[in-house]
Order: sequence, then C-alpha cells, then structure tokens
Amino acid sequence: MIKVGINGYGTIGRRVADAVRLQNDMTIVGIVKTKPDYLAREASSTFNVFANNKENLKNFEDAGIKASGTVDDLLQSVDVMVDCTPEGMGEKNREIYRKNKVKGIFQGGEEANVAEQSFNAYSSYDRSVGKKFLRVVSCNTTGLARTIYPLMKKFGVESVDATLIRRATDPNDSKKGPINAIEPSLKFPSHHGPDLKTVLDIENVGTVAIKVPTTLMHVHSVSLQTKSTPSKDAIMEEWGKFNRIILVSGKSGISSTSQVMDLAREFGRKRGDLFEIAVWKESLFISGNNIRYIQAVHQESDVVPENIDAIRAIMGDADREKSITNTDNTMGIFKREL
Ligand code: NAD
Repeated sequence: MIKVGINGYGTIGRRVADAVRLQNDMTIVGIVKTKPDYLAREASSTFNVFANNKENLKNFEDAGIKASGTVDDLLQSVDVMVDCTPEGMGEKNREIYRKNKVKGIFQGGEEANVAEQSFNAYSSYDRSVGKKFLRVVSCNTTGLARTIYPLMKKFGVESVDATLIRRATDPNDSKKGPINAIEPSLKFPSHHGPDLKTVLDIENVGTVAIKVPTTLMHVHSVSLQTKSTPSKDAIMEEWGKFNRIILVSGKSGISSTSQVMDLAREFGRKRGDLFEIAVWKESLFISGNNIRYIQAVHQESDVVPENIDAIRAIMGDADREKSITNTDNTMGIFKREL
C-alpha cells in the first residue's frame, strides 16, 4: 500500500483524497488543513486531519474538531505528499518534504521547475517513473495534452494554436472575478503554451487566454497542423481509444457548458465532477492538414485521475497502461455513447 498524505484540502485536494480512497494499492494517512472550517469538520469523519502548524492545531481543538497532529507528524508516516496548497506554496513546502525524505506531487499553479518532471498520464508517464518530485500540469494544460496527444501519436503534430476561454473562478469562491468583464491575458503566448511543452514534445505552441464571467468550465478552441492529412472518422476513432476524452454533440442537446455539466451530474459522481475532456463532435473541422475543434474542461476535476497516476509513477510503477486502466475503472471513467 502506498501511504499518501494530502497537503491542502481545497478544490483539488479533497477530490484527490476521495480518488485515492477508491484505489486498492494506496491509502490516505491524513489530510492537512489550516482552518477548522466546514470542510475540516466534514473531512474529519472520513480522514485523519492534521493542522499545518502548532498554532492552528490549537484552533482545531478549540473548535471541537479532532486533529491528529501537525504536518510534521504526518510527514513521518507517508511515502508521498500530494501538495494541493495555493499557487507558490508548494515550492516552499518542497523543503520539508525533502528534509523528511518524502516524495512530493505538486499542482499546476507551481512553476515547472518545482519538480524534476511535469506530468500528464497519457503523454509523460514514462518520463516520470521513480522521480522525487512531480508536478501535475494545470487543468487547462491537462485538457490540451489529453486531446492533442492521441493526434500527435497517430498523425504527427507540427504546431498548435489554441484560444483558451477561461472560467473566472471556481463555484465555491465569492471573491474573485471578473463578474462583468472579459479579461484577456496581455502576454503572448499565455503561460499555457510553454506549459504544454513540459509534457508534450512539440516546438510550436501558441496560446491566448481570455477570462470570462462563468464558474462552470473552461472552453478551448484548438487549431493544429498535422503532418499527415487525417479524415474526421480517423480522428474520432483515435480519440475514441482514450477514456478520458468524451465526444459530445449539439444534436443531443449539449450546446454549451451548462449542458456538459448537467450531463456530468447525470453520471452521478460525487460533486457532479467531469474527469473527462468534452469535445464537441460538430466542431471538428478539417482543411488539408489544419484541424480545428472545440472542447470543454471541468477545471475542478480533470486533473484528479492524473494525480492518481502520478502517485503510481512517482512510486516507481512503470506500467502506464495498467495504472491508467486501474484509475479509470475505480473512478468510473469509461467510454459512453452520447
Ligand atoms: P484552493 O484554494 O481551493 O485550496 C487550497 C487549500 O490549501 C485551501 O483549503 C487552503 O486553506 C489550504 N492551504 C493554504 N495554505 C496552506 C498550508 N500552508 N498548508 C496546508 N494547506 C494550506 O486551491 P485549489 O484550487 O485546490 O488549487 C490548488 C492547486 O491546484 C494550485 O496549484 C492550483 O493552481 C492547482 N489547480 C487548481 C485548479 C482549479 O481550477 N481550482 C485546477 C487545476 C489545478
């Protein structure tokens, strides 16, 4: 059994904790919280809760929430810590992991150099096996890597040009925006382009990112140049081989992210998550070697199966296919007719 700790129990941390519980080769030793809030209270009925420091541990006691110690105590009994703290904090935490000889998996809010290797299960698993530190790329980069990798493998990809229409914030947040504006990133390429190169062997990637007032999902408009000229059927067939991509259709009533997430709720998963990247069938357009399509990304959950595979990879399990299949089977990710 791989002994896992979760540092930071927010949007990503709590989902990864639940996904680890579904696996038969790993277990959650504990989760780390800063505040004794409603999430800590809920978590304490399932997990051993640890505070991030001694001062905050006292607050847990005062709030009547059982805490098992501090992060330092948890580090004594885990093999790997999945760090799901806010952007930039993972880098600071890396030193305590190193000191305690614990492996660390960071998230996409960290700079790529926080880890020896960035991770996507389809495209960079093999390079990640046995490392000390990995970083699961962001929700947006995961979305791009998921759908581009199969095309790259089969047809070869010369270049990618993607426009990312980004959600303003997550549904549980009431502070960030914009709430009545469209906010372009004024840097070209946006950081997603260079980030994609950390998990895919591709030279030419241009990305533009634009934030809009929605909390449900990101939408990507992808344009890429392939080396050969595939047919629509050949592309659909290739995507069809990968469970973490689902093909949705306007004809069956899925014409916006509202319906994509409504469909996800029908899947009956905890929190209504959609681990798969949803590609609209009708959006696939081919002109010579230029391929275009539109996809939607559930930012809160698409990186969760990647974190599970990253745990196996970092612990030295070299069997990529077996890990992905295990993760998919346990998390209910399978091919669906839509
Ligand atoms: P979040 O704010 O929802 O959760 C972070 C949690 O960490 C919070 O509960 C916070 O209280 C806690 N925390 C803060 N300081 C801590 C400390 N010192 N020790 C332990 N816990 C601490 O953030 P999130 O959205 O889950 O993001 C976590 C990481 O995942 C970031 O790198 C982010 O960029 C990345 N990510 C986020 C999303 C998303 O859409 N939310 C998607 C993919 C990747």
